[in-house]
Amino acid sequence: MRWNGQRLDVDDGALPGLERSGVLRSVRTPEFDGVTFHEVLCKSALNKVPEESALPFRYTVNAFRGCSHACRYCFARPSHEYLELDAGADFDSQVVVKLNIAAVLRKELRRASWRREAVALGTNTDPYQRAEGRYRLMPGIIGALAESRTPFSILTKGTLLRRDLPLLRGAAESVPVSIGISLAVFDEELQKQLEPGTPSPRARLDLVRAVADAGFDCHVMVAPVIPFLTDSVDHLDALFGALSAAGAAGVTAFPMHLRGSTKGWFLGWLAREHPALVRRYRELYGRGAYVPPEYRRMLAERIAPLRTRHGFDHASGHRDAAPAEQVAAAPPIRRSPEPTLF
Ligand code: SF4
Repeated sequence: MRWNGQRLDVDDGALPGLERSGVLRSVRTPEFDGVTFHEVLCKSALNKVPEESALPFRYTVNAFRGCSHACRYCFARPSHEYLELDAGADFDSQVVVKLNIAAVLRKELRRASWRREAVALGTNTDPYQRAEGRYRLMPGIIGALAESRTPFSILTKGTLLRRDLPLLRGAAESVPVSIGISLAVFDEELQKQLEPGTPSPRARLDLVRAVADAGFDCHVMVAPVIPFLTDSVDHLDALFGALSAAGAAGVTAFPMHLRGSTKGWFLGWLAREHPALVRRYRELYGRGAYVPPEYRRMLAERIAPLRTRHGFDHASGHRDAAPAEQVAAAPPIRRSPEPTLF
């Protein structure tokens, strides 16, 4: 394997050095066509968020590396390069699975020094991507967090979350639990192109309804908004309306950013599928990873009346409910005097 001997703990400290623990095995099965699972034993589970971060959580837990949801814009793609895997097709198809993560987490949460700070799940890979159906790591993780009275949040595109709603309801009786669903592409054809491994928009709307019916405030990340593809008033209006009807408690939206190797992966796809947009993207992203302030302003102004129309005004400050992969994708607050979320 190409990454034998690599220091897998380079970026999040949660993976073993393979030279010490080793990949237990690499698995391909007919049910997961084209995906290889690399099963490993991790040495730590909690990843500390840097002190200077403005994110509303201090720790993250990621049971997987890589994500078969395969979103073209995924900001986590470059993290796969630490494994000497590529940030494109390998990120989608070479998924590292931390088999022992629940046991390791439970041990870490029992330490006397643990302060029960908020833990976010879904910050770097989706905890309910298809692999979770095979490995069932989340029930153990949820159980460990609840037993230790640690507040936590989950962000996902995966409808498999529904399986764990009873467990999450039970956990919420003893600790604060926030659930967020990511749904930003309401056009099904476009969703299949942009997020080819994800459940359909309709399935995720049903999930929003199921989460709300289970008694949770379901926050929805309408993010990232993809310039000239999902940022029209018509698209956003239809999506906000559907989310409101499905019982979403709040929405957060912000434009796509393209950092590191994600940029080349996304723009390669754009050139193949939407060549007419390439020039406009050069204007938007030609000088960096973030859209210019004028675009951010335009989008904020476009979204504000839609929030009002669909009854989401009250949720504008509802950030804690959506500590999310895409929250991490917002540009650092230092870079712009404008709010990073709206
Ligand atoms: S954006 Fe989220 S769901 Fe999509 S590939 Fe990345 S981690 Fe997976």
